[in-house]
Amino acid sequence: MRVCIVGAGAAGLCAARHLLIEPCVTELDVLEQSSQLGGTWVYTETVGYDDFGLPIHTSMYKSLRTNLPKEIMGFPDFPIPESERSYLPAKDMLAFLQLYAEKHGVSEHVKFKHHVQLIIPKQGATAELWDVTYKDLMTGVTTTKEYDYVFVCNGHYNTPFIPNIPGLKEFEGDVMHSHDYRVPDIFKGKQVLVIGAGPSGMDIALEITSMTEKVILSHHLKEQPRSVFPSNLTQKPDVEKLEGRTAYFKDGSQEEIDVVFLSTGYLYNFPFLHESCNIVVEDNCVEPLYKHLVNIQHPTMCFIGVPYYVCAFSMFDLQVRYYVRSMNGTFKLPSRQEMTRHWEQEKSERASRGYTRRQAHMMGPDQEKYYASLATEAGTESIPSVITKIREESSLRFLHNLQNYRQDVYKIIDDDTYEIISNGKRE
Ligand code: FAD
Repeated sequence: MRVCIVGAGAAGLCAARHLLIEPCVTELDVLEQSSQLGGTWVYTETVGYDDFGLPIHTSMYKSLRTNLPKEIMGFPDFPIPESERSYLPAKDMLAFLQLYAEKHGVSEHVKFKHHVQLIIPKQGATAELWDVTYKDLMTGVTTTKEYDYVFVCNGHYNTPFIPNIPGLKEFEGDVMHSHDYRVPDIFKGKQVLVIGAGPSGMDIALEITSMTEKVILSHHLKEQPRSVFPSNLTQKPDVEKLEGRTAYFKDGSQEEIDVVFLSTGYLYNFPFLHESCNIVVEDNCVEPLYKHLVNIQHPTMCFIGVPYYVCAFSMFDLQVRYYVRSMNGTFKLPSRQEMTRHWEQEKSERASRGYTRRQAHMMGPDQEKYYASLATEAGTESIPSVITKIREESSLRFLHNLQNYRQDVYKIIDDDTYEIISNGKRE
């Protein structure tokens, strides 16, 4: 089998790691548009476009430390060493991914500065084959190569989602998305409205309080953060409209601001997939995918890393193990009809629980069930529940103790239990 992986971030490296030990795989190419592996975890001061005219991929900012502890940031077969601090800086995560790639001999299979431009089912072929067209950015030469399988691992935190806020386009100050944020200095002396209280929004709002007189954090979190914020950070509900340099909020209040900072998340984007791949992204729902992973219309294509609010690297590993087992015949994927029925059922079941279409791939409380369903079907090991438990605990502490939660130290006791040393005390 000839396999193509798009992207050498954590997902692509994990796919390569498992495919390289698979006897049925005869050829493996990891096509990576940038000059190094690590994807999201590569920090650059550059924003906008790179030297080859491609949009800058990474959304990493300089001060970033992971929002989850190291115990659940590693791969099941390659954990982050005990000696590392609890919540790693981005550069250490990058070094960890480099070690992972070296240990498993992945690096020599990565074609750097190779930009995937088009993936299309092979015309007139009797079997499901793929034509992948990529450009060598150094030479400018474009090649089309045939593969039996395609792993789409292009990352989902690089195409900004811009919300539809009345007056945003006409706003008289600056508008910026967190994708382009690197350091807080740019906000010196400015009054900044941060929209969105996800991990980046909260971290960045806090970070820029040291540079500005006024930061307003607008969000619609169901659970109000109990974190103690500096006095120059005010929380507000959603923005109703912007006019001139004034923001009007849903509670009837208003504030004068210089900058609208959008920490509003990202869109799934697969610009290289030809429409005949039959993958549609609408309202941030990627479909039709079986188990958020397999292209139902063309099951020789899979997508690693679509679900969010997950234990990312552990999930990548499980998704890859699942899919590779379908490739090597350990188990058989259901028929297209069955997979479609399953996906439609899942969508309506989510809708009945109040999930919107935009939340089609949100896991959170559904994580364990999702992991178990993959593991059971493929006959492989699932992710121990202690991993999801730590994720839940850390996320709560993030919300309610933003300034200090990264000082907590976690210790896994067994597959189900853990302890925390917080403020010098065992909990
Ligand atoms: P990426 O890391 O984005 O890698 C995708 C790769 O594909 C890139 O190298 C890119 O260059 C390449 N590529 C894309 N298109 C093409 C193309 N057409 N041709 C060739 N190559 C292409 N997760 C956590 O678990 N914990 C955290 O603390 C955490 N913090 C985060 C902080 C920020 C600011 C962001 C943006 C994300 C964070 N994440 C965190 C999520 C993180 O992105 C994932 O954990 C994970 O690293 C994503 O890996 P990936 O391989 O799916 O995507």
